[in-house]
Amino acid sequence: MKRISLLGATGSVGTSTLDLVGRNPDRFCIEVLTAGKDWVRLAELAIAHRAKLAVIADEGSLAALQEALAHTDIAVAAGPAALVEAARRPADLVLAAIVGAAGLPPTLAALEAGIAVALANKEALVCAGGLMTATAARTGAALLPVDSEHNAIFQVLGAPETVAHITLTASGGPFRTLPLAEMARVTPAQAVKHPTWSMGAKISVDSATLMNKGLELIEAYHLFRVRPDQLRVLIHPQSLVHGLVEYIDGSVLAQLGPADMRVPIAHALAWPERIATPVTRLDLAAAGRLDFEAADRERFPALAIAEAALAAGGCRPCVLNAANEVAVAAFLEGRIGFLDIAIVVAETLDAVPAHCPQSLADVEAMDGAARRMAHSFAAHRAQA
Ligand code: NAD
Ligand code: MG
Repeated sequence: MKRISLLGATGSVGTSTLDLVGRNPDRFCIEVLTAGKDWVRLAELAIAHRAKLAVIADEGSLAALQEALAHTDIAVAAGPAALVEAARRPADLVLAAIVGAAGLPPTLAALEAGIAVALANKEALVCAGGLMTATAARTGAALLPVDSEHNAIFQVLGAPETVAHITLTASGGPFRTLPLAEMARVTPAQAVKHPTWSMGAKISVDSATLMNKGLELIEAYHLFRVRPDQLRVLIHPQSLVHGLVEYIDGSVLAQLGPADMRVPIAHALAWPERIATPVTRLDLAAAGRLDFEAADRERFPALAIAEAALAAGGCRPCVLNAANEVAVAAFLEGRIGFLDIAIVVAETLDAVPAHCPQSLADVEAMDGAARRMAHSFAAHRAQA
């Protein structure tokens, strides 16, 4: 029996994870479930999956969650410190599926405790990749990629000295072919309607700006220990080829599969074994063709900004991520336009001084400074 602690149980990745856990009751059991604010759904899931502990990040929801679980023997806690405690609790795997840098403290706590982490929460690695990978190396905790492209690379990656390039594919999002003049007017509803994947709101907007692929390049840099110039992006609208590794002899190994997150989640849950999933099988004859094209960095400046942050290193990725979280939230709330997202991120990167974060406290200070700066740039654009 693998004991799973699931951080971000009520989200898109959390829901797919619980679907797989529920189908494999002889293999997996739930230790901890956590959520941000939705205590009603968290209570339902905790009961359905017989969790030992349910943690709500929003402290104001503690009383309601306690009442909802009063008739059970499920322990209840609330707040960011309780999330960290929950992630440290003995378990065989922590599945990190919180969105944003908010997921960093509990994810790092799991690695510090030597618990294997299946990572969906790419923002944690973007903010503090050096700290996370050093911690995992020190405690021996495995860090398994759940993000579909990284899971694909993980499945086909050979010895580091034999690798020439790693390519992450990107669908290009909903605005790949939209006339450029219309990009400024796209709405949050259009931006979250992803052509191939069904995901949470923040990552859907990131996919529409291609910032998601930029964050993923930084994620790949930390996971696979290659140089930034060995990482590439390839637009592939069908989202069936997820990642490719080119070797020094010219061979290219790729992983393919349907655009269903249950495939990479199942791989990470069962690793080093495999489990069956109920996903619709890949039918290449029905798909008929696989298209590829270069990424357009004029249309998608966020990708170029993220690539520059990766090349610069140090704290740049942490600032990039914090500014992007603030800008995406402002866009989703209708305060700034779609094209303002990349502008706010670029302005914040220019304004926040370079400094290399060493500890979690350094990262949190840098993240906070970048958020304050991004808020003021977003407010300025909202008035413009
Ligand atoms: P989501 O918005 O659907 O779910 C996010 C989860 O995090 C929810 O359970 C929410 O309650 C919780 N949460 C939000 N803010 C929190 C906070 N401040 N403190 C504690 N918990 C909080 O997001 P998602 O689409 O499931 O994505 C989760 C992560 O996985 C993201 O980092 C995303 O980039 C990554 N990811 C998602 C997909 C996908 O298909 N959805 C694919 C690859 C990677
Ligand atoms: Mg991805």
